[in-house]
Amino acid sequence: MRKYGKDGRLDCVICNRCGKKLAVKHGIVREGVFTSDHRWDFFSEKDGEIHHFDLCEDCYNEVTAEFRVPVDVEDEIELL
Ligand SMILES: [Zn+2]
Repeated sequence: MRKYGKDGRLDCVICNRCGKKLAVKHGIVREGVFTSDHRWDFFSEKDGEIHHFDLCEDCYNEVTAEFRVPVDVEDEIELL
């Protein structure tokens, strides 16, 4: 969950799963966070809804550890 100040700058990020408040400084999250902004489509029962949530890195690890099929991970190629 994200809260923004009156100036539109990110003020606060809270893990939706455990409630931990993540470190935010000058509008930037300073620790690992998984953010979902998922738009459900016509074929779902949530057509027209957009679901937003954030997970801290510990919760991300615990949630994805429950997957029967592991997350696909690839190394990001940094463009310098
Ligand atoms: Zn958490």
